[in-house]
Amino acid sequence: MCIDCQSFLQGLFAKGLLIETGVDGLYARGGVFEDVVARFDALITRFGNGDGAEVIRFPPGMNKALFEKAGYMKGFPQLAGTVHSFEGNDKQHAELLDRQARGEDWTALQRATDIVLTPAACYPLYPIVARRGALPPNGGIFDIQSYCFRHEPSQESTRMQMFRMREYVRIGSPEEVTDFRATWFERAGKLMTQLGVPFHLDVANDPFFGRAGKILASSQRDQKLKFEMLVPIEDEANPTACLSFNYHQDHFGTLWRIKRADGEVAHTACVGFGMERVVLALFKHHGLDTAAWPSSVREALWG
Ligand code: AMP
Ligand code: ZN
Repeated sequence: MCIDCQSFLQGLFAKGLLIETGVDGLYARGGVFEDVVARFDALITRFGNGDGAEVIRFPPGMNKALFEKAGYMKGFPQLAGTVHSFEGNDKQHAELLDRQARGEDWTALQRATDIVLTPAACYPLYPIVARRGALPPNGGIFDIQSYCFRHEPSQESTRMQMFRMREYVRIGSPEEVTDFRATWFERAGKLMTQLGVPFHLDVANDPFFGRAGKILASSQRDQKLKFEMLVPIEDEANPTACLSFNYHQDHFGTLWRIKRADGEVAHTACVGFGMERVVLALFKHHGLDTAAWPSSVREALWG
């Protein structure tokens, strides 16, 4: 097949940038792809490290009790993934293997563990901050990253089930967190300009579930609580959200009882970078051969 006849995803597979696993949205990453991810990660740090953020890296799973308390199942039950494991006896083990051999569902013989897959990098952060007690006078700023899971299988390269999210999170007064978000609108524009990909910023909403979710989504839009930086990747007419900028007001502060130094409830905001999506945008716009990328882009990433 000629390269033009293949979808973007097939081209990525053919080059070994991504490697198929047999499940849509679940891919291994080749060395070249990972090198670009690492260099993009370092570029984000160059823009953000002047703020003195505390660095925290999360495993891909989080505490199920905290996930419950965060209310994720109210908003996004369709995206969640949970970790189950076998805790039975010899008889149940034999039954499990029989079911596998017969091609039947054997997973009912497992039980839920205390771990769920992390849906967004900042979910595990808030309870950690809350546990530490009142924030210092200038609030808190965090540099976090996690592999995230969302059950949205798709053949679009940009819609993965497991992907990495890097975030900066600001916790403090309403002014501190809205200033933070405004600063990142500007920084992100400069960052994407250095990467040489077309982009624009727009108001957005999260994919809240069901009929009640429609109301939540339109209220989020009306209040301009979420913005996305969009880049055309798979579809010119439907650009892909590569970065998102979220102002949660006092939602997480109230939920987790995060207090500012003066005793007021904290506000929070985060900027999230979809690591794979930005890297896919680079391959889409500059081609699958990194050696042939424009020198300004190579300079930004490889220095
Ligand atoms: P969100 O919490 O939905 O705003 O997601 C934060 C960022 O993660 C988005 O701006 C995307 O860049 C990235 N992202 C979200 N969902 C996916 C997905 N299914 N596959 C790859 N990246 C994603
Ligand atoms: Zn976040």
